[in-house]
Amino acid sequence: MIDKFLKNSYGISDRVLELAKIADQKAAAAYERADKICEYNSLRVLKAFGDHNVSEAHLGATTGYGYDDLGRDTLDNIYAEIFGGEDALVRHNIVNGTMAIATCLYGILRPGDTLVAATGKPYDTLEEVIGIRDGSSGSLKDFGVGYRQVDMIDSKVDYDSLRASIDGTVKAVIIQRSKGYDWRDTFCVDEIGEIIKFVKSINSEIVCIVDNCYGEFVEDKEPCSVGADLIVGSLIKNPGGGLAQSGGYIVGTKDAVEKVSYRLTCPGIGRECGASLGNNRTFYQGFFMAPHVVCNAVKAGVFCSALFEELGYEVNPASDDVRSDIITSIKFGNESSLIAFCQGIQKGAPIDSFVVPMPWDMPGYENQVIMAAGAFVQGSSIEISADGPIKPPYVGYFQGGLTFETARLAIMVAAQKVIDCNQN
Ligand SMILES: *Cc1c(COP(=O)(O)O)cnc(C)c1O
Repeated sequence: MIDKFLKNSYGISDRVLELAKIADQKAAAAYERADKICEYNSLRVLKAFGDHNVSEAHLGATTGYGYDDLGRDTLDNIYAEIFGGEDALVRHNIVNGTMAIATCLYGILRPGDTLVAATGKPYDTLEEVIGIRDGSSGSLKDFGVGYRQVDMIDSKVDYDSLRASIDGTVKAVIIQRSKGYDWRDTFCVDEIGEIIKFVKSINSEIVCIVDNCYGEFVEDKEPCSVGADLIVGSLIKNPGGGLAQSGGYIVGTKDAVEKVSYRLTCPGIGRECGASLGNNRTFYQGFFMAPHVVCNAVKAGVFCSALFEELGYEVNPASDDVRSDIITSIKFGNESSLIAFCQGIQKGAPIDSFVVPMPWDMPGYENQVIMAAGAFVQGSSIEISADGPIKPPYVGYFQGGLTFETARLAIMVAAQKVIDCNQN
């Protein structure tokens, strides 16, 4: 029944249908692992809702100054508890992950301090925040904050260089969990714990900040549980559960979160103000759904790896690797395959499936970039999406999928398009 539908409605060939079945068999153990983590995290969230007596009143809105916003303050506490911190800021007016990270950096660092990046060059959008891209106004560099970068060796932290980079001026170290747009392994939470332990063994006062984007709920714990002082992410990725329409979160120690709160609003006000407007309902519901939605995205990633392994491509992570984020990268080796892949993913998206994405000159990127996105929330990448820079070795990055079933279809359509384009 399903195969016939896939064939007739989406032109999936017998070969891809066959390979998809093999991929599912290969992926069975990884699917099961994801289901177990999903169950555990879902139950933890449910219990936290109960322990905090979440009720209809929490889902309502405040306006104006937003004093005594019960929903906002309780959700902060729930995030803190679930992510292993002491305190949290979950806000719709943190406009994206970049702002969440920047708010932490500006909240913690002072003129004369130094920031160290322990896992190589941070995510592209942070270059202007740090001031390593020319012409960025208002960067940390503008404010007299220094920066040192410890590049990785073979996907691993260069501990000797990290030690050498830490002197008395170093106030904060930033660690990026997810690979972002690099071909490297994602750090699992325990590995992040080792990095933090190492940094703290040199100076326990150093604030360890983890860019946790794309990692939330992929494992059974988050980096605050292994010593991170601050962890940060976007609500239009994992923890928003596909329902949050905007926002970011910051979780960490009481002291660090308080400092950051004075940057988020202003000194003296901190977390006392900030109306939630109408966002509490989707933030609660999204967080409730998030473990399940992330599980769907993880399984979609596993299926994607398994199917493209069967087609002979190098993928990262492999289908049987333990995952710590929702990104799957595929080395296509030529431009037309990368484009065909993204166009296939677009065809399997719920919104804008009729659109054919093409490479374009995206501001801030050296090469042309192709992006497939068909999301209910603009730019949301817990929803199905794929992208890649048009340059060798033509790596495509796949992430998201609100439901496994529909993401699996999109991946099959993409595989079919890649096969077809290489036959012509
Ligand atoms: C998405 C992401 C960010 C932040 O990106 P925004 O588009 O600003 O939300 C930062 N770091 C990593 C690793 C990411 O994946």
